[in-house]
Amino acid sequence: MPMDPLHARYPFFGGARDAVRETDISPAALIAEDAPAVERGLERVERALMEGTVEADEPHRWDEREELLSYPIARILVSLVDTPAAVEKYAAAEAATAQTRFLTDFEADDDELQSMRTRRASLESVLEEFGLSGDVRPERDGERRGRDPTHYWVALGSYLTLADADWGERWRLVNREVADGSVRVTRDELHRTLEEAVRRRVAEGLPFEVRGSPAGEEIADALDEEVAELRDLLNDHDAAGSAAVEAVVPDLFPPCMKTLVRRVREGETLAPHSEFSLVSFLVGVGMDETEVTTLLDADDAETADRLETRVAYLADADGSQFAPPTCATLKAYDDCTDPDERCETISHPLSYYESAVRDAGDVRDWRETVAEGE
Ligand code: SF4
Repeated sequence: MPMDPLHARYPFFGGARDAVRETDISPAALIAEDAPAVERGLERVERALMEGTVEADEPHRWDEREELLSYPIARILVSLVDTPAAVEKYAAAEAATAQTRFLTDFEADDDELQSMRTRRASLESVLEEFGLSGDVRPERDGERRGRDPTHYWVALGSYLTLADADWGERWRLVNREVADGSVRVTRDELHRTLEEAVRRRVAEGLPFEVRGSPAGEEIADALDEEVAELRDLLNDHDAAGSAAVEAVVPDLFPPCMKTLVRRVREGETLAPHSEFSLVSFLVGVGMDETEVTTLLDADDAETADRLETRVAYLADADGSQFAPPTCATLKAYDDCTDPDERCETISHPLSYYESAVRDAGDVRDWRETVAEGE
């Protein structure tokens, strides 16, 4: 039976689950023969933990079948790693990746759709997938007839289920336009709630018991090395989770982060992995939502909201849950820009910053200058 490319792109869709069942290939068999889907599954989890995405490093290396089958393998790996941080990061990364793909799909025009081999998801199909079809209606005005609506009305119940007050003040119902049992949202806000719907679906049932049967024991034993590798990654990251200095001194940020800050301040929307690196670095040096949006000059509501949401997500209670990537990862993404002499002595942007602040001696915290209105 031919594969539906949509299932490879969105392996958490109900139809994708059925497609995996229909392949008649068990994860145990894939693991036993060390199939490519196992390697891709491991990459999926590694990149989720390190970089907040599950996108393949070399997308053309994997066919649709391997891509689809790597999802159940990734879920087994996350279950074996068995820590709340692994589940959270993995689900968030699957959701962030899906969100980027949704946007590409929704924005593809008819010509593109016809020329693409890949089947694309429509907003309607995604709403249907999450049981939201009847709960979301577009707001059309005369001037924009024929174009995508800029606003939608979401049934109150679905809004309250999916939107989290922790995402920022503007998500609280008191700050919303509500009429006839529906809440008015922008297109981007609707997409944000869809990302949340994906996150919840991916997190559902994780972690599960793998070693509950002789077959499960076999699977777990075969994945021992991969699981140890993933646990190491998490430990390394958590160890480098936050800078040991308390001051925020943007002039002493490493060159890579200075560049990313400058690009955002100039109005550029960064690629998701670059934004993840930057925001997790800023959280790592101890900045909160408001400080991040102020430093990055995010004065349009959409960018500010997205950044605030990312910060809230990245900053857990001890600030170490989502540490920024290492220099090696930044290099792999071409985000290591203009490294200087200090860069030769460190392997992590936070180490660079700690060393720079220590060497600078008496420094003035940027937050004091903001508070004093300088
Ligand atoms: S070496 Fe590391 S700290 Fe220096 S610019 Fe590159 S990524 Fe940043």
